[in-house]
Amino acid sequence: MNSAYLYLQLYRLFDGITPVKADCGGLCDKACCRGDDAGMYLFPGEASVYSLLSSEWIRIENSDFSYTYNGVGKKLKIAFCNGGCDRYQRPLACRIFPLTPYLDKGRLRVITDPRSKAVCPLGRTLGIEDYDRSFVRNVHTAFVILSKNREFKAFLSEYSRYLDDYLKFFPKK
Ligand code: SF4
Ligand code: SF4
Repeated sequence: MNSAYLYLQLYRLFDGITPVKADCGGLCDKACCRGDDAGMYLFPGEASVYSLLSSEWIRIENSDFSYTYNGVGKKLKIAFCNGGCDRYQRPLACRIFPLTPYLDKGRLRVITDPRSKAVCPLGRTLGIEDYDRSFVRNVHTAFVILSKNREFKAFLSEYSRYLDDYLKFFPKK
């Protein structure tokens, strides 16, 4: 998948839309941007965005997460930022946090990312219906568009099974 321009378009869905109307960073001192392990997955094809941009604040590596497409194993990339970024260049994972796409019996849903519950007051306390409706809608729209690509759909299927391991401990909302 080589989709830098698609991702740049999708980023714009979140330039002015955030999980809730207020600046939630004040609740937690931006907990999701802190910590030594402040890495975020780049979705398939997304790393190509950063070869187009001058982004010295980001470091990209292969992650431990892999998925299979057409019989070929692929490593998902992960990005590290040292807790600071150009807001207009931040990855999609940061824009949609604490929500995530999830394939539920083949149907795309937007759920609270169960991994957010350890760090994020919103993820811990809100149900999907409590988020800004435009935010939830835009997360859904972004992943409907991405899922039109077969490789992305294959990734999303394995990613959802990976989330299932967390959902055993943190039931969906
Ligand atoms: S951890 Fe949650 S509440 Fe805090 S800034 Fe990130 S998204 Fe907002
Ligand atoms: S890239 Fe930006 S939004 Fe994402 S974790 Fe780093 S500082 Fe936070």
